[in-house]
Amino acid sequence: MAGCRRLSGAGLREVLGPAQGVLFDCDGVLWAGERAVPGAPELLERLRRSGKAALFVSNNSRRSVAELERRFARLGFRGVRAEHVFSSALCSALLLRQRLLGAAAGAAGDAGPGRVFVLGGEGLRGELRAAGLRLAGEEEEAEEEAAVRAVLVGYDDQFTFAKLAQACAYLRDPRCLLVATDPDPWHPLSDGQRTPGTGSLTAAVETASGRKALVVGKPNTYMFDCIVERFGVDPSRTLMVGDRLETDILFGKNCGLATVLTLTGVSRLEEAQAYMASDSPAAKDLVPNYYVDSIADLIPGLDD
Ligand SMILES: [Mg+2]
Repeated sequence: MAGCRRLSGAGLREVLGPAQGVLFDCDGVLWAGERAVPGAPELLERLRRSGKAALFVSNNSRRSVAELERRFARLGFRGVRAEHVFSSALCSALLLRQRLLGAAAGAAGDAGPGRVFVLGGEGLRGELRAAGLRLAGEEEEAEEEAAVRAVLVGYDDQFTFAKLAQACAYLRDPRCLLVATDPDPWHPLSDGQRTPGTGSLTAAVETASGRKALVVGKPNTYMFDCIVERFGVDPSRTLMVGDRLETDILFGKNCGLATVLTLTGVSRLEEAQAYMASDSPAAKDLVPNYYVDSIADLIPGLDD
């Protein structure tokens, strides 16, 4: 199967014309740090005018969806509402609510729903509280302290040995779930340096506990399940646009979406071409159908 074609000229209209909607990753696609990618706000405006849905799917677990909504507005993206945004923080909260508070949760046998031990910041914790979950170490009256039924690993820039040890102590109980918000190994910083991502912290917890985490974020399909449940998206008429081959593009493949790599973020065109040249079937799943230098290049494919 041919892949990794530059999307331009007549091809743009062929691909965008029949699409009902576009899923966008955020970091490295719409913005880099505090700067919007030039032309990205205009593209979203043009999609809206063309009657096409724009939804956002981010592995970033640092911010709550409400904070992300404000970030869109601050960077010049108009009309993006919180319900269009699916972050790994939100989807982790939805998954844990299902597992800990859903119909089957009562079978655990103890009084009251279990609590969640969180490795992560205030944005993630707020999303969990908003989903009705109780967090370990918060507002507990000692007498009715419920058992910890899940350890959630997110982006935690205050990660410590003590937290790792505490997580492992909870995970000795096989009924305690181990969940990770996303698998990202690291993130680029604006000065060219890298900062560790959730995947690196999850690896520490997995190694120390001997357990394997259920990973919520891309490339796993759970976030797409959340999107379909809310918006009834048709995969055959939806595009996935992202900057990271191992998460965004594989996610699109896993969900049956046509994929577009944009070169304003993590992955380089040479990496996509190397995957395409590889004999490994797994590598083929990381090859995007199309690529663009920037998502602004999609604008000419839409009607005025
Ligand atoms: Mg990205």
